[in-house]
Amino acid sequence: MEKFGYICPECGKGTIKETTVINCQTKINNYPFIVPKAIVGVCDSCGAKNFDPQERERWVNLYNSGLEAKRVFLKAEQILHIRKKLGLNMEDFASLIGCTRQSIYNWEKKNRRIAQSRMADVIIKLLDECLNKGKVDVLSFLAQELKHLGVEIKIKPDVVTIVTSEKYETFICSEEEYAQNYMKPQGCLGFSPKLKTVS
Ligand SMILES: [Zn+2]
Repeated sequence: MEKFGYICPECGKGTIKETTVINCQTKINNYPFIVPKAIVGVCDSCGAKNFDPQERERWVNLYNSGLEAKRVFLKAEQILHIRKKLGLNMEDFASLIGCTRQSIYNWEKKNRRIAQSRMADVIIKLLDECLNKGKVDVLSFLAQELKHLGVEIKIKPDVVTIVTSEKYETFICSEEEYAQNYMKPQGCLGFSPKLKTVS
């Protein structure tokens, strides 16, 4: 079915023609993605590209299933599994992570059409990590997760993460702040509790 065939909104001269683009580079939720075989509308005069919303949705699904296959993005059954491990119903789980019950329902549904946002994905993964390990270095965890998406970022080098043994709280401060406010660690854990907590 011809999806395009209309006059180019850019130049007003050419016609938008359906074109198959092999290895089409795009961005999904701001992350780089290559669509193996994309249907794009291209103007036969100025070359302007037009995108069909349905085709775009197909790319998003392709992207998400690719991430699920690589275990980068939680599948519906994994979200359900983590929620059950926490012993929470949909309402309480939604309250915990700050979304609606309807969202949880959509994300856990078999053959779902709506997947969680990446923000929700990392929060749920962090919960799972907490269940499995007790303590989580959030900064490292998030950076590692991002690396799986093919993006490497440089986190400010003077940020240090300190985990106290007593309260299992994570403090983040600069090295300078650290030097001013803290005694040398005795052993390697247990610092003065003067610090502000980063939650
Ligand atoms: Zn044009």
